[in-house]
Parts: sequence; structure tokens; C-alpha cells
Amino acid sequence: MSNPTKPKLVILGTGFGAFSVIKRINTRIFDVTVVSPRNHFLFTPLLPSTTVGTIELRSIIEPVRVVRPEIRYFHAECVGLNHSKREIRCNGILDGRTFTLQYDYLVIAVGASSATFNVPGVREHALFLKELSDARAIRHRIIECLERASHPRINPDERKRLLHFVVVGGGPTGVEFLAEMHDFVIEDLRKSFPGVAGDVRLTLLEATDEILGSFDAALRAYTRRVFRRQRIEVRTRSPVTRIERSRIVLRDGTRIPYGLVVWSAGTAATPLVRSLRVPRDAASRILVDEYLRVAETSRLYALGDCSSVAGRPYPATAQVAQQQGKYLASALESWSQGIQPKPFRYKSYGMLAYVGSGKALADLESVKGRGFAAWLFWRSVYLTRLVSLKNKILVVFDWIKTFVFGRDISRF
Ligand code: FAD
Ligand code: MG
Repeated sequence: MSNPTKPKLVILGTGFGAFSVIKRINTRIFDVTVVSPRNHFLFTPLLPSTTVGTIELRSIIEPVRVVRPEIRYFHAECVGLNHSKREIRCNGILDGRTFTLQYDYLVIAVGASSATFNVPGVREHALFLKELSDARAIRHRIIECLERASHPRINPDERKRLLHFVVVGGGPTGVEFLAEMHDFVIEDLRKSFPGVAGDVRLTLLEATDEILGSFDAALRAYTRRVFRRQRIEVRTRSPVTRIERSRIVLRDGTRIPYGLVVWSAGTAATPLVRSLRVPRDAASRILVDEYLRVAETSRLYALGDCSSVAGRPYPATAQVAQQQGKYLASALESWSQGIQPKPFRYKSYGMLAYVGSGKALADLESVKGRGFAAWLFWRSVYLTRLVSLKNKILVVFDWIKTFVFGRDISRF
């Protein structure tokens, strides 16, 4: 099956970093195998839009097998690594069966997991917003809460609880989810659930003093004003200490009944990364040099959210992972031909976030844009960044469909 004359390159992951390598790697030079528990790439920047159906789930994914048919893919998770033997251990996702793979070069791009900070009840009761299955579960839960709240014999307290949608974590993901939720209430539920739409409450709980901490101060203040007008309640300095089946408990003892709680409070190193015997930074990410090589080892590379470039603290974003992937694909080719590549340098294109009601933030180096124009910019940027023509067409059609017919509220 494998070609004995080419060096074996194994890539762990199918996210922004890995996919960017996969798209560009020279398969005339390398015999490439991809191992990932997810058999598709997911365009996370538009994931919040899928939770309420502004965009359909399948419109923002791309199967890895289709992009480079000549690359081998295993639907498995890497669970261990023995670099002196140049061997990884994997578990099949569907049957759990273990197998090993040999490599000459290994690229680790396994991303990060959701940080729970050991708050009890998060894994049991909250939903995350990281994978497509999370977006589907959120969408399902929202419709379920609305239907249950519409029951003729519902008790008023229970109704109030079911219609309270809470997000924990004031980063861009949490903000964008609430923005989408707000649009859903105003544009769709007022028509389809006239009896309950007016009683839906949206709350954002943030542990620190500020939401959107990485954005410009004027844009943060603008977001607070937009949210106030949209009646999205923002509670800063409100760390969550426990999540129960139907209530959130804050550090000051406040108990908040909820129908849905979305946990979006940051990321942590994955179990695989924590188990590796390689140099790591304070956040347990794999330390790499400016060529994305794992410090003090050869033929082992890491990029994206699971890594940290020594002395250059890049943000954990899709932009960084994607640029690193592109860089590594060409650097590997250079090394294989005995050419020394230039070190990796990140170029920031700024940050964007949707805040609802057709308004967005554009935090660029040169301009700080906001409002409707920024929203058009937000849409056009994401459209051009989508990885395939198919995705672009599907997303445009979804936007038109939502604009003309509204979002679907069926429960199935
Ligand atoms: P990921 O894209 O997370 O990919 C990790 C891959 O590794 C996945 O395919 C996973 O299945 C696989 N994997 C995990 N464990 C293993 C294992 N043991 N073995 C093999 N494979 C494994 N960034 C922006 O710049 N702009 C945005 O607008 C933006 N919006 C976001 C919205 C949401 C809802 C989320 C969740 C994130 C957003 N991000 C955004 C952040 C961005 O998604 C990440 O920074 C980016 O995905 C990091 O790329 P990565 O390749 O390191 O990891
Ligand atoms: Mg990746």
C-alpha cells in the first residue's frame, strides 16, 4: 500500500493547521497519511451561524478524502507516540481497535480541547461549541426548549427557565452565538412562536471584567451598547462555580435557572498533547522553534492551537494555524531537497466578530470598523476564506434562503 521509495509523512488532525498542510503537501515527494477522529475539515468561524440554522451544517465542512484522493486517511485518534522508534499508536474511532503506524516525519496538529477549569457539571449539563455535532445539539436543545415552553400546562417558573439561554465565556465564539440567537428570536420566533418569543432571555456570563478582551476598547464598548439594545444581559465578574441540571451557580452564590447553557470559556491542551514527552509551555502546548520543529527533536513538527512558537506568542486562531500549515508544507519540501527554508513569520489580517442585527466588528491594524459595513465585510471575508467552491456556493444559498424564507424550526 505504501510507497517504499518515498519518505512517510504522517499528519495528525484535519483542522485548520493540518488541512492547510494536506492541501499543499507535495505528494510526489512524500507518502502522506492522515490520522484524525474527524473525517472532514470544519470551518469554525461560521459554526455559530449553524446553531440557529442561518447556515446549514453541511455547508461548512469538507471531507478530507475528497480534497487529496491520493492521500491515505485513517478514521482514528492518535493515543501515543514513540519518537525513538518513529511510531504512533492509534485507536479506530468506530471500533476502538488499536494499530500502529511508522513515520519518517510527523506533523502534530491536533488542536485544543474545551477548558472546563474543573467546574463540576460542565461536561454533564453544558453544551460546547466546537464541532458540528455540538452545533446540532444546540439547535436541537433550543427547539426543544421552545416547544416545551409552549405546552398548555407549563408552570410559569419552568417556562421562564426553559426560555433562558445562557452562554459562559465572553470571547468571540460566545458573543457570536448570542448574536445569532438574538437574530433568530427577532426574525423567526416572533412569527413562529409568537407566544414565547417575547419571553426568551439571553445572558452572557463572563468571569473577568470585560467581554471580547482581545478586541479594541472602542469596539468592546460598542458591543456592550448593541447588546443592551438587543436586551442581551452581560454579567461580567461572574465566575461560574457549578452547573446543575437546571441551574448555574455563581461564585457569589447566585443561582441562575437555564434551559440551555453553552460553555465557551477557553481552551486547554488535549490529553494526547499532555501525555507527550516533549518540551511544553506553561499552558502545556508543544514548544516549537521558528521552523515549527519540536524543540530538540528532528522530524517532529507541531502547529496550530496545540503548539507555541518559543519567544513568539501567536494567538490560538485559525489564521495562525492556516499560515503555519501553508508554511510547513513548503518548508518540508525545501528540507527534502536540501534547501534551508526561511523561518515562519505570522501576518495578522485582523479580527472580525458578528454582534447581531446585521452589525459586526472589524478590528484591523489600519481601521476599527463596526456596524453594517463591517458586517458586509465580515460576510465577504468569510466567504472568500471558505476552503472550497462548493462551500462558498452553499453558504451564499443559505444566506439567501434565510433572508427570504427564515430559519427552519422543525424538530426531528
Ligand atoms: P483544529 O482546527 O481544532 O483541528 C484539530 C484537529 O485535530 C481536528 O481535526 C481534530 O479532530 C484532530 N484531533 C484531535 N485529537 C486528535 C488525536 N488524538 N489524533 C489525531 N487527530 C486529532 N479562529 C479565527 O481565527 N477566526 C474565527 O472567526 C474563529 N472562530 C471560531 C469559532 C468557533 C466556534 C471555534 C470553536 C473556534 C474559532 N476559531 C476562530 C479558532 C480556530 O478554530 C482555531 O484556532 C483553529 O481551528 C486551530 O487550528 P488547529 O489545526 O490547531 O486545530
Ligand atoms: Mg489542524
